[in-house]
Formats: sequence, structure tokens, C-alpha cells
Amino acid sequence: MAACYVLIVAAGSGERFGPGLPKQYRTLGGIPILRRSIRAFLDHPGIAGIQVVINPAHRPHYDAAVGGLALPPPVAGGATRQQTTLNGLLALQASAPDLVLIHDAVRPLVDAATITRVIDALGRHRGAVAAVPVVDTLKRAADGLVVGTVDRADLWHAQTPQGFRYADILAAHRAGAAAGLTDDAAVAEQAGIAVAVVLGHADNLKITTEADLDRAERMLGGSRPSPARPALPDLRVGNGFDVHRFGPGDQVTLCGVSIPHDAGLLGHSDADVGLHALTDAILGAIGDGDIGQHFPPTDPRWRGADSTVFLAHAASLVAARGGHIAHVDVTLICERPKIGPHRLRMKARLAELLALPADRVSVKATTTEGLGFTGRREGIAAQATATIGL
Ligand code: MG
Repeated sequence: MAACYVLIVAAGSGERFGPGLPKQYRTLGGIPILRRSIRAFLDHPGIAGIQVVINPAHRPHYDAAVGGLALPPPVAGGATRQQTTLNGLLALQASAPDLVLIHDAVRPLVDAATITRVIDALGRHRGAVAAVPVVDTLKRAADGLVVGTVDRADLWHAQTPQGFRYADILAAHRAGAAAGLTDDAAVAEQAGIAVAVVLGHADNLKITTEADLDRAERMLGGSRPSPARPALPDLRVGNGFDVHRFGPGDQVTLCGVSIPHDAGLLGHSDADVGLHALTDAILGAIGDGDIGQHFPPTDPRWRGADSTVFLAHAASLVAARGGHIAHVDVTLICERPKIGPHRLRMKARLAELLALPADRVSVKATTTEGLGFTGRREGIAAQATATIGL
């Protein structure tokens, strides 16, 4: 698959917003606008990496806005929008991207489907721009009087992201653009690159004024946070469930702890049903698939694997998003072995694996009163819940 990188252009000084914090660092729903824009791409599976271009004078605002996100250092913008983009493109050179999307930092509500459409269009076209059709009737006026009606049939509002083959857009920006070009598609057009229009989204608003910010807050379903109405944190709760069948053996591994038993658990890995359910709960909370997708059972690398590897990977995906695991709760469901005597060891092991204090980790156990497959002692089930702050 072609490696697609994103350049997020955040170097604007935002005069239209008036004095104070530059608009890309203002908050929307309690989260900095730039952070929202970055997260839209960090969370998209088609994106290999992100480069942000900033005004170096804004560095303290930048550091505060992106804290905890896994990003390369920002690069400094230039005197013009075009020079700023060129600086960003040059910073991506070492990553050798096939494709690059260029996105305005002040479009924080870009949706995943729009990003996907732009990437997909680059399979068929050298350039692609997200856009929405013009629906209002357009009037041409002079001296305050209408002098004509413009045919809107072929007119689109250009948005971002705008996508290109990396080599194409780098060459186009290097060649230098005519003054007054306001987006990268225009630079590409000037260089003779055919740019396709793909459907964007009406909500992919460019926040350039206070009124835009109010509109974006309304779109998010609330008014601006205030002391009386604090912003809700981005709190996620995921759940996971897993079952493994008993087979020959003399021990089972549950929540990272080996327990002597008159049977073992069958599975491709060490069959730690507790850690599998918990790994799925964490992946669920960040919307990142499931354990089988990250560690396919068909892959010989995971034969007999220590399941703590799976848990550590899920935890690292949370950390890469700038999140933290606030609490985990695992329930083991079986008649035998008796979990009670080992419960505290399991809790301590999970706390150690996730670097959490003991009161943020719970391990519980129950039987099913002799009913069902766990009641017949055919296997062990586990369910887990993970609470994650992003
Ligand atoms: Mg499993």
C-alpha cells in the first residue's frame, strides 16, 4: 500500500480572530482545535505519519496543545502560505512518502470518510481535493446592486484535506507559485496536475472567526465550556470477552499468573483468557479493532506467546494517542480452578503490567452455578472493562 503522510499547516497568525491566542490553539469542546485536527488523522488507519508546520513563536502553545501525542517535532513555517507548505513537504522527505495530504489546522471537524475518499481518489488521479457543491444561488453585484446570477452548476467549495503524489506537489511548490494562490490544489493546477474533486462534508468547517467557533461548538452539541458548564472529558469505556477450552496440561495462565490445575487451556498463545479479554477491552475503548486483528492466530510468531505482549501493545496504542488507562476490571468465569486464592496476585500482576495503582485494577471471579460450558468445566470465560481517558 502506498505510504500516505499528512502535512498539517498550523502556521497562521489568525488576524481575523483578533488579538489573543491564535485560533488553532483555541479550544473547541474543551480540546485545542489543532489537537482535534491532528487526532482526526492519527486515528485514521490510512495515514502513515503526520508532520505539523507551526509559527515558531507559537511553540509554547503548540507544546501545550499536543502534549502526549506521538508526533515528530514541528517544523517552522515560512513568510507565505506557500513557503510554509514547502517547508513541511521538505521535512517529510526523509519519510519518502508516496502520497501526501495537506490539511488546514483550523478544520478540526474533518471526518474519517472524507479522508478516506481523498486517499482513494489518489489511486485514480494525481491530485484530489475535498469539496462540497455550492447550493446557494450566487449573485454578482456592483455598487450594491445585483448585476447578474452566476451559474452554480459547476461550482464547489474547496476544503481540505487536499491530496497529491508527494513528488508532484513537492516539485510544484519548489517551482514557486504565483502570488495569491490560496490553496495547494491551485498550486497543483498551475503546475498542470489534474486535480479531482471528491465529496467533502458540510461540517468540515474552516474556523476563521468567532462566529465559526460558535457554530462548531453548536455542531458538537454544546455551548462553550464555562466554569458552570465544564467540558466533558474524552472518556472511553471498552469491553472485551474471551473463552478458552480446557485441554491436557497441569497449569493455566490467568491475568499473567500461572496456577496449577489438573488441565491446561487450549489456544494458539498461552491462552490467558483474562489478558485476552482485557486487551480487547482496551482496543475497544480506542476503536482499534481486536486482538485477532493485531495478533492473527495464523501468525506463527504468536504460537505459545506470553499474552502480556498483547496487553503491552494495546497499552502502547493508548499511549500513542496521548491517552491513559484510568481503570481496568476483569471477571473470570469458571468452576475450577478456584480463583480466590490467586486473585490478589493477579491484581498485582495487572497493576504491574499496566503501571497502575492497585485501586485502579480489579480482578473478580464467579461461577455459573454449574450451568453452561463453564459449569460443565469445559473451559474458562473472561470479560473485562477498560476505562480510558484521551
Ligand atoms: Mg483468546
